[in-house]
Amino acid sequence: MIKVAKFGGTSMADASAITRSANIIKAEESRRYVVVSAPGKRFSQDTKVTDMLYACCHELELDGTCEDTFAKIRERFIGICADLGLSLDITPYLDKVKEGIYKYRSTSYCASRGEYLSGVIMAAALGYEFVDAADVVVFTCDGEFDAASTRSALQAKLADTPRAVIPGFYGADEHGTVHTFSRGGSDITGALIAEAVKADMYENWTDVNGFLSADPRVVDNPKLISKLSYKELRELAYMGANVLHHESIFPVRSSGIPINIRNTFAPEESGTLIVPEVKDSEVTDTVTGIAGKTGYSIIYIEKSMMNNEYGFVRKILSVLEQYNISFEHMPSGIDTLSIVVSDSSIAGRESVLLDRITKAVAPDHIKIKSGICLIATVGHGMKSNLGTAAKLCGALSGAGVNLRMIDQGSSELNIIVAVDSRDYGKAINAIYKAFKC
Ligand code: ASP
Repeated sequence: MIKVAKFGGTSMADASAITRSANIIKAEESRRYVVVSAPGKRFSQDTKVTDMLYACCHELELDGTCEDTFAKIRERFIGICADLGLSLDITPYLDKVKEGIYKYRSTSYCASRGEYLSGVIMAAALGYEFVDAADVVVFTCDGEFDAASTRSALQAKLADTPRAVIPGFYGADEHGTVHTFSRGGSDITGALIAEAVKADMYENWTDVNGFLSADPRVVDNPKLISKLSYKELRELAYMGANVLHHESIFPVRSSGIPINIRNTFAPEESGTLIVPEVKDSEVTDTVTGIAGKTGYSIIYIEKSMMNNEYGFVRKILSVLEQYNISFEHMPSGIDTLSIVVSDSSIAGRESVLLDRITKAVAPDHIKIKSGICLIATVGHGMKSNLGTAAKLCGALSGAGVNLRMIDQGSSELNIIVAVDSRDYGKAINAIYKAFKC
């Protein structure tokens, strides 16, 4: 039995959290490969080491020095080692990191050093081998992740390494230049390792009991989801349920490895199990979870007889393509089309877009409505329960929320609605109450 155990920032925040994490690893022989994040926040006003590192890079660019911020990082790591009572002398590692920050002046190099130092410390605390992610997680020179080369490098290295600690979040190209995944990317590293070593389980240790059926900042005390499928997770994670990085699902999903989200601070809880498939007989609720995101706009296009015009939608989409804008949803009527896009993708380009689309298809009306949020209601139980959409719409109208768009995925796994951002909390609570999820 092989388990890959990834520990997030809070699980690495200080010596007491690291000791907890190390005890969890030692409690099971099978926890052979450990992936760590950089030390996160110890209390709510604290700063994550990764954010301090990004700040270093920024200061270096602006002022040519980052001495004060780096001194704080140094103090943090020296404190952790002293509190852990390690014989490891972290000072030469810190000196080398500082030298690299000044030498490379690269944001990715700088940001990745929190995971690197965390990994060195955890390896020393466990007596496991330290494997630098720069040697086994491969990126191309232009910063694209290279999955096939990573798989071979990991398999070659870990085949003769029975137990190892590998830092998350980064890798390197053939010249040794460091590249990072997007924020929260240590989850991806853990999944890549689980896939490469054909692990029986990918454990993701964090600071919550598992995946909740709604955001606890919006819904009071939402239920914990004990089991969900990769597909459900993907829908919820994409829409902002952020226990796991949404890209971390792909490597383990293709090889059917289950993910177990666990709480470092309550290891007695069994957490949330994410499995390739949930059997119909196991589905008890219509809705597994609800998630939502603000920051969207809808481009409304109206043209009479639009449905008879060949290539109408293609012409609009090629305008979006030219501007590198990908759309989230595109429900249409006979004479109308709504295209949901993120605010950030169209920011500052609204009028040129309207202009270009107008030139391309000569609509009768076209406008952009911003201030929209999307809410996904997800669950395998939907396809066997009639009236889910009716119940959802009823809940929204009962709460006085105006529905701007509704879109049901073809697999009947989710219903996405768009409502005004100011109704975000009201809408999620109304749906949650209706489905008692
Ligand atoms: N430390 C990085 C971040 O804060 C990556 C991670 O923790 O997964 O985003």
